[in-house]
Amino acid sequence: MNAIIGMNELAIRDYGRPETMEYLRDIRQAGATLLSIINDILDFSKIESGHIQITAARYDTASLLNDALAIIRIRLGDKPIELLADIDPSIPAFMTGDEIRVRQILLNILSNAVKYTNEGFIKFTARCDIIGDEAVDLIFSVEDSGIGIRREDIGRLFGDFSRVDLGRNKNIQGSGLGLSITRLICRAMGGDVTVTSEYGQGSVFTATIRQKCADYVPMGGIEGKISYRAEVGAIRFTAPDFRVLIADDNAANLKVAAGLLAPYKMKVDTCLSGEESVALVKENNYDLVFMDHMMPGMDGIEATKAIRALGGRFDELQIVALTANAISGMKEMFLENGFNDFLSKPIEIPKLDELIERRVPLERRHKAKAITKGVADAEFIGIEGLDTAKGMAMTGGNCANYRSVLELYCRDAESRMGFLELAHAERDLKNFTTQVHALKSASASIGATAVSQEAASLEDAGRRGDMDAIREHAEEFRENLAALIARILSVIRPEVSGDVQTIGEEVITRLASALSAEDVGAADKIMAELSLAPLDSASSRVISEISDLLLISEFEEALGRLKEFK
Ligand code: ADP
Repeated sequence: MNAIIGMNELAIRDYGRPETMEYLRDIRQAGATLLSIINDILDFSKIESGHIQITAARYDTASLLNDALAIIRIRLGDKPIELLADIDPSIPAFMTGDEIRVRQILLNILSNAVKYTNEGFIKFTARCDIIGDEAVDLIFSVEDSGIGIRREDIGRLFGDFSRVDLGRNKNIQGSGLGLSITRLICRAMGGDVTVTSEYGQGSVFTATIRQKCADYVPMGGIEGKISYRAEVGAIRFTAPDFRVLIADDNAANLKVAAGLLAPYKMKVDTCLSGEESVALVKENNYDLVFMDHMMPGMDGIEATKAIRALGGRFDELQIVALTANAISGMKEMFLENGFNDFLSKPIEIPKLDELIERRVPLERRHKAKAITKGVADAEFIGIEGLDTAKGMAMTGGNCANYRSVLELYCRDAESRMGFLELAHAERDLKNFTTQVHALKSASASIGATAVSQEAASLEDAGRRGDMDAIREHAEEFRENLAALIARILSVIRPEVSGDVQTIGEEVITRLASALSAEDVGAADKIMAELSLAPLDSASSRVISEISDLLLISEFEEALGRLKEFK
């Protein structure tokens, strides 16, 4: 709290200076840490006061273990740590128990191993003891080559709020509640957690829980299928047969999401409303739907309910909520409403990668060829009010993507202008709030931080029904947004001076060969080149279509479009 309050003071005093951004980033980091501590405390007090709810439902053991290891692999970042797994193939494939709590146990002891190990290895072992006809004891152990724990501290580890060896660990964040929570959950599941450790050498945490066995078929070996080493930023697999639908009322957001998914080479469809998403889901066999939460008309929750109500295969369809309101407790709300998972907007690439790891079954994955990086260098001219480096990173780190997202952003924002008028807000506050909400996340994802913040405070005012605040700021927001759009357009669609031209033969040949070789890097480069040229309208149109197709890796179709044009 000291850090948060202190830095906020600095930000207020320094308002308007570039350093302010740095303070604000620190506040965000400190805020996130505080939030996770508060969540621990809430969870702990809920469990302590006897409100631990262990629900029982059937779950797939291999996918649970896989999920946990996938998350930990990403948390390893670039620490020089080898993650090993030794998983007994005779563990039953399906259990009955509280999957979320089991996952919490695993993540707790695995992430402690990551936190308190600087180099070497982390070894995860899973075994089972069959107890009678229906139950098994699952025994998970996590061994690390980390800093270890002093003998005299071991007894205190599971105490509430207890953190040991603070001299060495002063830079590691934590509440000291993780292990107490883990122990309470294990005990509530008829087991316990224990530790052995040698100071300076490493530790072994062992958690045991009793679970009902839903199906005695052995799970089989999953080890060979897990790749253990973290490779941050690299796509490890593609899933060309995996079908995805993205529903979002904001076209720029759709483009960003499709662009971020492009390296996985999935079949991606998009739509602009809840109603359309339900219709498309009925017609097609999707594996995963990304569903925006706030949409005018049928919102994401209503659409998901409508899909689940169809029954049959629609019960199994994976639906992931996309939301710009990433507050604690949201995730539970979504899970209770039929969603399987949750992703906050603007989408962060590592979070998306974690989610894809969790959601695409092993048998649907193909080994990725080396990924060519797009044109990542900033060809962009500074646009006031736009953090282009951030925007580019958010849209997949390449110029052509960013340019077309900006184009869409402007088109989308222009179409919302009418709804931002004060008179409209007075008439239909709900719709006004939905519009500024959409602009909040779209602006954040192109790097227009200030406009996004203005939209956020108008959204808050809209939710509170605070018409005074809206009267005070709505007009200014409209003006700022219009000015931003004009600045962006002046860069991406410069007034054509001199002769407009069609696409040259030589460029067409180069582009065609990049498209047939499916060389994303080369194609992006040519597209970036073309987008700077003063093209006539037919050429601009075809280039924009090809750029859309490229975003979703439809090389063949893009080539077809190019040939038609020629
Ligand atoms: P924290 O949030 O502080 O990590 P925990 O309850 O999870 O809280 O752990 C309590 C303390 O136990 C930690 O502060 C740390 O000192 C110690 N600890 C936990 N796991 C390990 C480990 N794998 N290696 C060394 N020390 C550990």
